[in-house]
Amino acid sequence: MKVIKIGGGCLKDKQTIGQILELIVTRGRGNIIVVSALSGITDLLIDSIPKALADEEEIAGIISRLKSRHLLVARHLLHDSQTVQKYGRELARQLAELERYFYGLNFTREITARMRDVICSYGERFSAALLAFALRCRGLQAAYRLPHKIGLITDGKFGDATVKMRLTSQNLQHHLAPLLQNGMILFIPGFFGVSEEGTITTFGRGGSDYSAAVVAAAMDAENLEVWKDVAGFMSADPAIIPEAQMIPRISYDEAAELSYFGAKILHPRTVEPLRRRKLQIAIKNTLDPDAPGSLITAQRILAKTVIKSVGHQTDIGILKIHASGVGARPGILAEVAVCLAATGINIKSVVTSQTCISLLLSHRDLDAAQDALQTLTPRPYRKLEKVAGVALISIVGEGLARRKGIAARCFAAVEACGVNVEMISFGPSRVALYFLVRIGDLQKAVTAIHSAFFSRPRCLI
Ligand code: ASP
Ligand code: MG
Repeated sequence: MKVIKIGGGCLKDKQTIGQILELIVTRGRGNIIVVSALSGITDLLIDSIPKALADEEEIAGIISRLKSRHLLVARHLLHDSQTVQKYGRELARQLAELERYFYGLNFTREITARMRDVICSYGERFSAALLAFALRCRGLQAAYRLPHKIGLITDGKFGDATVKMRLTSQNLQHHLAPLLQNGMILFIPGFFGVSEEGTITTFGRGGSDYSAAVVAAAMDAENLEVWKDVAGFMSADPAIIPEAQMIPRISYDEAAELSYFGAKILHPRTVEPLRRRKLQIAIKNTLDPDAPGSLITAQRILAKTVIKSVGHQTDIGILKIHASGVGARPGILAEVAVCLAATGINIKSVVTSQTCISLLLSHRDLDAAQDALQTLTPRPYRKLEKVAGVALISIVGEGLARRKGIAARCFAAVEACGVNVEMISFGPSRVALYFLVRIGDLQKAVTAIHSAFFSRPRCLI
Protein backbone atom coordinates (compact mmCIF):
# COMPACT_ATOMS: atom_id res chain seq x y z
CA MET A 1 0.00 0.00 0.00
CA LYS A 2 1.21 3.47 -0.94
CA VAL A 3 0.27 6.85 0.40
CA ILE A 4 -0.30 9.39 -2.36
CA LYS A 5 -0.38 13.09 -1.68
CA ILE A 6 -2.22 15.29 -4.15
CA GLY A 7 -1.32 18.97 -4.00
CA GLY A 8 -3.68 21.89 -4.45
CA GLY A 9 -1.72 22.96 -7.54
CA CYS A 10 -3.08 19.83 -9.30
CA LEU A 11 -6.64 20.64 -8.25
CA LYS A 12 -7.25 23.87 -10.09
CA ASP A 13 -10.39 23.48 -12.14
CA LYS A 14 -12.70 20.89 -13.66
CA GLN A 15 -10.19 19.94 -16.38
CA THR A 16 -7.17 19.43 -14.14
CA ILE A 17 -9.24 17.66 -11.51
CA GLY A 18 -10.69 15.43 -14.23
CA GLN A 19 -7.16 14.43 -15.27
CA ILE A 20 -6.22 13.69 -11.67
CA LEU A 21 -9.26 11.45 -11.34
CA GLU A 22 -8.16 9.47 -14.39
CA LEU A 23 -4.76 8.99 -12.78
CA ILE A 24 -6.35 7.86 -9.53
CA VAL A 25 -8.51 5.35 -11.42
CA THR A 26 -5.41 3.73 -12.92
CA ARG A 27 -2.96 4.13 -10.04
CA GLY A 28 -4.90 4.76 -6.87
CA ARG A 29 -6.67 1.49 -5.99
CA GLY A 30 -5.90 0.05 -2.59
CA ASN A 31 -3.99 3.16 -1.57
CA ILE A 32 -4.50 6.05 0.79
CA ILE A 33 -4.71 9.49 -0.76
CA VAL A 34 -4.01 12.59 1.30
CA VAL A 35 -5.41 15.69 -0.40
CA SER A 36 -4.88 19.42 -0.26
CA ALA A 37 -7.69 21.89 -0.69
CA LEU A 38 -8.57 22.93 -4.24
CA SER A 39 -6.16 25.57 -5.47
CA GLY A 40 -6.85 28.95 -3.86
CA ILE A 41 -9.39 27.71 -1.31
CA THR A 42 -7.12 27.96 1.75
CA ASP A 43 -6.23 31.53 0.74
CA LEU A 44 -9.92 32.28 0.34
CA LEU A 45 -10.64 30.91 3.83
CA ILE A 46 -7.79 32.89 5.38
CA ASP A 47 -8.86 36.11 3.65
CA SER A 48 -12.44 35.55 4.73
CA ILE A 49 -11.60 35.56 8.44
CA PRO A 50 -11.12 39.32 8.90
CA LYS A 51 -14.01 40.01 6.51
CA ALA A 52 -16.39 37.86 8.55
CA LEU A 53 -15.18 39.54 11.71
CA ALA A 54 -15.75 43.02 10.35
CA ASP A 55 -19.14 42.50 8.79
CA GLU A 56 -21.74 39.77 9.35
CA GLU A 57 -23.21 40.51 5.93
CA GLU A 58 -20.06 39.16 4.28
CA ILE A 59 -20.58 35.64 5.57
CA ALA A 60 -23.33 34.60 3.16
CA GLY A 61 -21.16 35.69 0.23
CA ILE A 62 -18.17 33.72 1.49
CA ILE A 63 -20.23 30.57 1.89
CA SER A 64 -21.82 30.94 -1.51
CA ARG A 65 -18.41 31.42 -3.19
CA LEU A 66 -17.15 28.21 -1.59
CA LYS A 67 -20.32 26.41 -2.58
CA SER A 68 -20.30 27.47 -6.21
CA ARG A 69 -16.58 26.74 -6.68
CA HIS A 70 -17.03 23.14 -5.48
CA LEU A 71 -20.40 22.54 -7.11
CA LEU A 72 -19.11 23.74 -10.47
CA VAL A 73 -16.43 21.05 -10.36
CA ALA A 74 -18.89 18.47 -9.02
CA ARG A 75 -21.40 19.05 -11.84
CA HIS A 76 -18.66 18.40 -14.35
CA LEU A 77 -17.15 15.36 -12.64
CA LEU A 78 -20.07 13.53 -11.09
CA HIS A 79 -21.78 11.72 -13.90
CA ASP A 80 -25.28 11.24 -12.55
CA SER A 81 -27.59 13.79 -11.02
CA GLN A 82 -28.27 11.57 -8.02
CA THR A 83 -24.62 11.66 -6.99
CA VAL A 84 -24.50 15.42 -7.60
CA GLN A 85 -27.43 15.75 -5.22
CA LYS A 86 -25.83 13.49 -2.64
CA TYR A 87 -22.58 15.41 -2.84
CA GLY A 88 -24.53 18.68 -2.65
CA ARG A 89 -26.06 17.52 0.64
CA GLU A 90 -22.65 16.59 2.02
CA LEU A 91 -21.19 19.94 0.96
CA ALA A 92 -24.16 21.79 2.47
CA ARG A 93 -23.57 19.99 5.77
CA GLN A 94 -19.90 20.96 5.76
CA LEU A 95 -20.70 24.54 4.79
CA ALA A 96 -23.30 24.83 7.56
CA GLU A 97 -20.63 23.92 10.12
CA LEU A 98 -18.18 26.40 8.68
CA GLU A 99 -20.82 29.11 8.56
CA ARG A 100 -21.40 28.68 12.28
CA TYR A 101 -17.71 29.29 12.93
CA PHE A 102 -17.81 32.47 10.87
CA TYR A 103 -20.82 33.74 12.79
CA GLY A 104 -19.11 32.79 16.05
CA LEU A 105 -16.12 34.83 15.00
CA ASN A 106 -18.29 37.80 14.24
CA PHE A 107 -20.22 37.43 17.49
CA THR A 108 -17.20 37.11 19.76
CA ARG A 109 -15.32 39.89 17.88
CA GLU A 110 -12.11 37.98 18.20
CA ILE A 111 -9.85 36.02 15.85
CA THR A 112 -8.20 33.35 17.94
CA ALA A 113 -5.55 30.93 16.70
CA ARG A 114 -8.00 28.15 17.51
CA MET A 115 -10.70 29.65 15.31
CA ARG A 116 -8.26 30.35 12.50
CA ASP A 117 -7.08 26.73 12.44
CA VAL A 118 -10.52 25.19 12.44
CA ILE A 119 -11.77 27.51 9.69
CA CYS A 120 -8.70 26.84 7.52
CA SER A 121 -9.18 23.10 7.86
CA TYR A 122 -12.39 23.12 5.79
CA GLY A 123 -10.69 23.41 2.39
CA GLU A 124 -9.28 19.89 2.69
CA ARG A 125 -12.56 18.51 4.01
CA PHE A 126 -14.34 19.81 0.89
CA SER A 127 -11.78 18.41 -1.56
CA ALA A 128 -11.59 14.97 0.09
CA ALA A 129 -15.38 14.58 -0.07
CA LEU A 130 -15.52 15.78 -3.67
CA LEU A 131 -12.87 13.34 -4.91
CA ALA A 132 -14.37 10.40 -3.03
CA PHE A 133 -17.80 11.07 -4.57
CA ALA A 134 -16.27 11.49 -8.03
CA LEU A 135 -14.59 8.09 -7.84
CA ARG A 136 -17.64 6.37 -6.49
CA CYS A 137 -19.66 7.40 -9.47
CA ARG A 138 -16.92 5.90 -11.67
CA GLY A 139 -17.75 2.58 -10.01
CA LEU A 140 -14.78 2.49 -7.66
CA GLN A 141 -14.84 1.90 -3.96
CA ALA A 142 -13.85 5.16 -2.35
CA ALA A 143 -14.39 6.82 1.00
CA TYR A 144 -12.96 9.63 3.06
CA ARG A 145 -12.09 9.79 6.73
CA LEU A 146 -11.51 12.96 8.72
CA PRO A 147 -8.22 13.25 10.66
CA HIS A 148 -10.01 14.04 13.93
CA LYS A 149 -12.27 11.00 13.57
CA ILE A 150 -9.41 8.57 13.01
CA GLY A 151 -7.12 9.91 15.73
CA LEU A 152 -4.43 11.85 13.86
CA ILE A 153 -3.22 13.34 17.13
CA THR A 154 -1.16 16.54 17.43
CA ASP A 155 0.60 18.41 20.21
CA GLY A 156 -2.10 21.10 19.99
CA LYS A 157 0.13 23.91 18.72
CA PHE A 158 -1.99 26.10 16.45
CA GLY A 159 -0.65 26.81 12.99
CA ASP A 160 2.45 24.68 13.47
CA ALA A 161 1.39 21.44 15.10
CA THR A 162 3.51 18.30 15.39
CA VAL A 163 2.00 14.83 15.31
CA LYS A 164 2.28 12.44 18.24
CA MET A 165 3.48 9.56 16.15
CA ARG A 166 3.07 6.57 18.43
CA LEU A 167 -0.50 7.34 19.36
CA THR A 168 -1.38 8.29 15.79
CA SER A 169 0.08 5.06 14.41
CA GLN A 170 -2.05 2.98 16.75
CA ASN A 171 -5.18 4.95 15.92
CA LEU A 172 -4.67 4.99 12.17
CA GLN A 173 -3.86 1.28 12.01
CA HIS A 174 -7.00 0.57 13.97
CA HIS A 175 -9.29 2.74 11.84
CA LEU A 176 -7.81 2.43 8.37
CA ALA A 177 -6.31 -1.04 7.98
CA PRO A 178 -9.71 -2.82 7.86
CA LEU A 179 -10.98 -0.38 5.21
CA LEU A 180 -8.16 -0.93 2.78
CA GLN A 181 -9.40 -4.29 1.56
CA ASN A 182 -10.66 -4.91 -1.99
CA GLY A 183 -8.97 -2.01 -3.70
CA MET A 184 -10.70 0.65 -1.64
CA ILE A 185 -9.35 4.18 -2.25
CA LEU A 186 -9.28 6.05 0.99
CA PHE A 187 -9.05 9.85 1.09
CA ILE A 188 -7.80 11.77 4.09
CA PRO A 189 -7.88 15.57 4.18
CA GLY A 190 -4.36 16.88 4.72
CA PHE A 191 -3.18 19.94 6.63
CA PHE A 192 -4.64 19.26 10.08
CA GLY A 193 -5.02 16.90 12.99
CA VAL A 194 -6.58 17.09 16.41
CA SER A 195 -5.06 17.56 19.86
CA GLU A 196 -5.70 15.08 22.64
CA GLU A 197 -8.18 17.61 24.02
CA GLY A 198 -10.07 17.49 20.72
CA THR A 199 -8.95 20.78 19.19
CA ILE A 200 -8.33 21.08 15.44
CA THR A 201 -4.74 22.14 14.76
CA THR A 202 -3.06 22.75 11.41
CA PHE A 203 0.51 22.06 10.32
CA GLY A 204 1.12 25.45 8.72
CA ARG A 205 0.84 26.46 5.07
CA GLY A 206 1.60 23.62 2.71
CA GLY A 207 1.21 21.20 5.61
CA SER A 208 -0.62 18.47 3.69
CA ASP A 209 2.77 17.05 2.69
CA TYR A 210 3.56 16.57 6.35
CA SER A 211 0.13 14.95 6.89
CA ALA A 212 0.85 12.53 4.08
CA ALA A 213 4.24 11.64 5.55
CA VAL A 214 2.60 11.03 8.91
CA VAL A 215 0.01 8.73 7.37
CA ALA A 216 2.68 6.87 5.37
CA ALA A 217 4.79 6.30 8.48
CA ALA A 218 1.81 5.40 10.66
CA MET A 219 0.49 2.86 8.15
CA ASP A 220 3.92 1.49 7.29
CA ALA A 221 3.30 2.23 3.62
CA GLU A 222 5.67 1.06 0.86
CA ASN A 223 6.45 4.67 0.07
CA LEU A 224 5.00 8.13 -0.23
CA GLU A 225 4.20 9.53 -3.66
CA VAL A 226 3.74 13.27 -3.89
CA TRP A 227 1.75 14.24 -6.96
CA LYS A 228 2.53 17.73 -8.15
CA ASP A 229 2.37 19.79 -11.30
CA VAL A 230 6.18 20.05 -11.48
CA ALA A 231 8.86 17.57 -12.56
CA GLY A 232 10.64 17.35 -9.19
CA PHE A 233 13.56 19.02 -7.47
CA MET A 234 15.61 21.02 -9.95
CA SER A 235 19.20 22.26 -9.99
CA ALA A 236 17.74 25.80 -9.88
CA ASP A 237 14.42 27.53 -10.42
CA PRO A 238 13.71 27.08 -14.16
CA ALA A 239 12.14 30.54 -14.19
CA ILE A 240 15.66 31.95 -13.68
CA ILE A 241 17.74 29.17 -15.24
CA PRO A 242 15.90 27.66 -18.23
CA GLU A 243 18.53 24.91 -18.58
CA ALA A 244 18.11 23.77 -14.95
CA GLN A 245 18.21 19.99 -14.64
CA MET A 246 15.93 17.68 -12.73
CA ILE A 247 17.61 15.97 -9.74
CA PRO A 248 16.83 12.24 -9.91
CA ARG A 249 17.90 11.36 -6.34
CA ILE A 250 18.15 13.53 -3.30
CA SER A 251 18.70 12.80 0.39
CA TYR A 252 16.35 13.63 3.26
CA ASP A 253 18.65 16.41 4.45
CA GLU A 254 19.05 17.92 1.02
CA ALA A 255 15.29 17.86 0.47
CA ALA A 256 14.66 19.45 3.87
CA GLU A 257 17.19 22.24 3.30
CA LEU A 258 15.87 22.98 -0.18
CA SER A 259 12.34 23.04 1.15
CA TYR A 260 13.25 25.60 3.79
CA PHE A 261 15.23 27.96 1.66
CA GLY A 262 14.67 27.08 -1.95
CA ALA A 263 12.17 25.29 -4.11
CA LYS A 264 8.72 25.08 -2.64
CA ILE A 265 8.42 21.45 -3.67
CA LEU A 266 7.70 20.02 -0.24
CA HIS A 267 6.74 21.25 3.20
CA PRO A 268 10.06 21.43 5.06
CA ARG A 269 8.94 18.98 7.73
CA THR A 270 7.80 16.22 5.38
CA VAL A 271 10.87 14.06 5.90
CA GLU A 272 10.58 14.07 9.73
CA PRO A 273 8.08 11.22 10.15
CA LEU A 274 9.75 9.13 7.43
CA ARG A 275 13.35 9.13 8.60
CA ARG A 276 13.11 6.38 11.17
CA ARG A 277 11.40 3.99 8.82
CA LYS A 278 13.58 5.07 5.88
CA LEU A 279 10.50 5.47 3.67
CA GLN A 280 11.13 7.01 0.27
CA ILE A 281 9.29 9.97 -1.20
CA ALA A 282 8.73 9.94 -4.95
CA ILE A 283 7.80 13.24 -6.57
CA LYS A 284 5.47 12.50 -9.49
CA ASN A 285 4.61 15.01 -12.14
CA THR A 286 0.90 14.66 -12.87
CA LEU A 287 1.43 16.22 -16.29
CA ASP A 288 3.93 13.46 -17.14
CA PRO A 289 3.12 10.61 -14.76
CA ASP A 290 5.48 8.06 -16.31
CA ALA A 291 8.53 10.30 -15.92
CA PRO A 292 10.78 9.14 -13.08
CA GLY A 293 10.66 12.41 -11.09
CA SER A 294 12.81 13.01 -8.01
CA LEU A 295 13.27 10.29 -5.42
CA ILE A 296 14.03 11.34 -1.86
CA THR A 297 15.77 8.64 0.13
CA ALA A 298 17.74 8.02 3.31
CA GLN A 299 20.82 7.43 1.15
CA ARG A 300 23.37 10.22 0.91
CA ILE A 301 24.59 10.38 -2.66
CA LEU A 302 27.61 12.46 -3.50
CA ALA A 303 27.14 14.13 -6.87
CA LYS A 304 30.08 14.85 -9.20
CA THR A 305 29.22 18.52 -8.90
CA VAL A 306 28.80 18.09 -5.09
CA ILE A 307 26.16 20.81 -5.28
CA LYS A 308 22.80 19.48 -6.41
CA SER A 309 20.82 22.67 -6.37
CA VAL A 310 21.08 26.43 -6.15
CA GLY A 311 17.94 27.59 -4.39
CA HIS A 312 16.68 31.03 -3.58
CA GLN A 313 14.03 32.81 -1.58
CA THR A 314 12.85 36.40 -1.74
CA ASP A 315 10.50 36.44 1.24
CA ILE A 316 13.28 37.39 3.60
CA GLY A 317 14.34 40.35 5.73
CA ILE A 318 16.96 40.87 8.43
CA LEU A 319 16.32 42.31 11.85
CA LYS A 320 19.67 43.24 13.34
CA ILE A 321 19.81 43.46 17.10
CA HIS A 322 22.88 45.46 18.03
CA ALA A 323 24.14 44.71 21.53
CA SER A 324 27.59 44.44 23.00
CA GLY A 325 29.07 41.17 24.16
CA VAL A 326 26.24 39.06 22.75
CA GLY A 327 28.27 35.89 23.14
CA ALA A 328 28.97 36.55 26.80
CA ARG A 329 25.43 37.34 27.89
CA PRO A 330 23.38 34.30 28.79
CA GLY A 331 19.70 34.39 27.95
CA ILE A 332 19.57 37.20 25.39
CA LEU A 333 18.71 34.89 22.49
CA ALA A 334 16.06 33.16 24.57
CA GLU A 335 14.53 36.49 25.54
CA VAL A 336 14.31 37.57 21.89
CA ALA A 337 13.02 34.20 20.68
CA VAL A 338 10.33 33.98 23.38
CA CYS A 339 9.18 37.52 22.68
CA LEU A 340 8.82 36.86 18.94
CA ALA A 341 7.20 33.47 19.43
CA ALA A 342 4.58 35.10 21.66
CA THR A 343 3.78 37.47 18.79
CA GLY A 344 3.44 34.51 16.40
CA ILE A 345 6.58 35.42 14.43
CA ASN A 346 8.69 32.63 13.02
CA ILE A 347 12.46 33.06 13.04
CA LYS A 348 13.78 31.49 9.84
CA SER A 349 17.40 31.61 10.92
CA VAL A 350 19.81 33.36 13.28
CA VAL A 351 23.38 34.48 12.69
CA THR A 352 25.23 36.02 15.63
CA SER A 353 28.49 37.78 16.35
CA GLN A 354 29.75 39.46 19.51
CA THR A 355 28.09 42.76 18.64
CA CYS A 356 24.99 41.74 16.73
CA ILE A 357 22.28 39.14 16.44
CA SER A 358 20.86 38.96 12.93
CA LEU A 359 17.45 37.39 12.68
CA LEU A 360 16.23 36.21 9.31
CA LEU A 361 12.49 36.70 9.17
CA SER A 362 9.75 36.67 6.62
CA HIS A 363 9.72 40.08 5.00
CA ARG A 364 6.21 40.80 6.19
CA ASP A 365 7.17 40.12 9.84
CA LEU A 366 9.93 42.76 10.03
CA ASP A 367 7.80 45.63 11.39
CA ALA A 368 5.87 43.48 13.85
CA ALA A 369 9.13 41.94 15.13
CA GLN A 370 10.66 45.36 15.67
CA ASP A 371 7.54 46.54 17.54
CA ALA A 372 7.52 43.42 19.70
CA LEU A 373 11.19 43.72 20.68
CA GLN A 374 10.70 47.37 21.55
CA THR A 375 8.33 46.32 24.33
CA LEU A 376 11.09 44.39 26.18
CA THR A 377 12.11 46.01 29.45
CA PRO A 378 14.87 46.46 30.35
CA ARG A 379 16.06 46.61 26.76
CA PRO A 380 18.56 43.82 26.18
CA TYR A 381 19.99 45.62 23.13
CA ARG A 382 21.39 48.98 22.04
CA LYS A 383 19.70 49.39 18.68
CA LEU A 384 17.39 47.58 16.25
CA GLU A 385 17.90 47.80 12.51
CA LYS A 386 15.70 46.45 9.73
CA VAL A 387 17.23 45.39 6.44
CA ALA A 388 14.85 44.83 3.53
CA GLY A 389 15.46 44.38 -0.17
CA VAL A 390 17.55 41.25 0.24
CA ALA A 391 17.23 37.71 -1.13
CA LEU A 392 18.60 34.46 0.17
CA ILE A 393 20.57 32.04 -1.97
CA SER A 394 21.30 28.51 -0.83
CA ILE A 395 23.58 25.93 -2.34
CA VAL A 396 22.75 22.41 -1.29
CA GLY A 397 24.49 19.09 -1.70
CA GLU A 398 25.76 16.13 0.32
CA GLY A 399 29.49 16.48 0.89
CA LEU A 400 29.42 20.27 0.78
CA ALA A 401 30.91 20.67 4.23
CA ARG A 402 33.60 18.04 3.70
CA ARG A 403 34.80 18.88 0.21
CA LYS A 404 37.45 21.54 -0.15
CA GLY A 405 36.84 24.50 -2.39
CA ILE A 406 33.05 24.38 -2.73
CA ALA A 407 32.36 27.61 -0.85
CA ALA A 408 35.31 29.23 -2.60
CA ARG A 409 33.96 28.27 -6.00
CA CYS A 410 30.52 29.62 -5.11
CA PHE A 411 31.79 32.97 -3.83
CA ALA A 412 34.30 33.35 -6.63
CA ALA A 413 31.40 33.07 -9.08
CA VAL A 414 29.43 35.66 -7.12
CA GLU A 415 32.42 37.96 -7.00
CA ALA A 416 33.16 37.52 -10.69
CA CYS A 417 29.72 38.86 -11.56
CA GLY A 418 30.24 41.88 -9.33
CA VAL A 419 27.71 40.98 -6.64
CA ASN A 420 28.27 41.77 -2.99
CA VAL A 421 27.50 39.12 -0.34
CA GLU A 422 25.62 40.66 2.58
CA MET A 423 25.68 37.82 5.09
CA ILE A 424 26.76 34.17 5.18
CA SER A 425 25.74 31.13 7.18
CA PHE A 426 27.87 28.05 6.70
CA GLY A 427 28.33 25.20 9.14
CA PRO A 428 25.04 24.52 10.89
CA SER A 429 24.01 22.14 8.13
CA ARG A 430 26.31 19.54 6.62
CA VAL A 431 24.61 19.91 3.29
CA ALA A 432 23.73 23.59 2.89
CA LEU A 433 25.39 26.96 2.70
CA TYR A 434 23.32 30.08 2.44
CA PHE A 435 23.92 33.76 2.09
CA LEU A 436 22.15 36.99 1.30
CA VAL A 437 22.52 39.38 -1.62
CA ARG A 438 20.62 42.52 -2.63
CA ILE A 439 17.40 41.49 -4.31
CA GLY A 440 18.37 43.24 -7.57
CA ASP A 441 21.47 41.03 -7.77
CA LEU A 442 19.63 37.75 -7.28
CA GLN A 443 19.27 36.66 -10.88
CA LYS A 444 22.87 37.52 -11.73
CA ALA A 445 24.24 35.65 -8.71
CA VAL A 446 22.11 32.50 -9.19
CA THR A 447 23.06 32.36 -12.86
CA ALA A 448 26.76 32.71 -12.06
CA ILE A 449 26.72 30.03 -9.35
CA HIS A 450 24.66 27.61 -11.41
CA SER A 451 27.02 27.84 -14.33
CA ALA A 452 30.05 27.55 -12.03
CA PHE A 453 28.82 24.17 -10.80
CA PHE A 454 26.76 22.77 -13.66
CA SER A 455 28.43 23.93 -16.85
CA ARG A 456 32.15 23.85 -16.20
CA PRO A 457 33.17 24.46 -19.83
CA ARG A 458 31.30 27.77 -19.89
CA CYS A 459 32.50 28.66 -16.44
CA LEU A 460 34.68 31.73 -16.27
CA ILE A 461 36.49 30.89 -13.07
N1 ASP B 1 -4.24 23.87 1.81
C1 ASP B 1 -3.15 24.18 2.68
C2 ASP B 1 -2.35 25.34 2.11
O1 ASP B 1 -2.65 25.80 1.03
C3 ASP B 1 -2.30 22.99 2.95
C4 ASP B 1 -1.67 22.35 1.74
O2 ASP B 1 -2.08 22.61 0.61
O3 ASP B 1 -0.74 21.59 1.91
O4 ASP B 1 -1.44 25.77 2.74
MG1 MG C 1 -2.63 24.19 -0.76
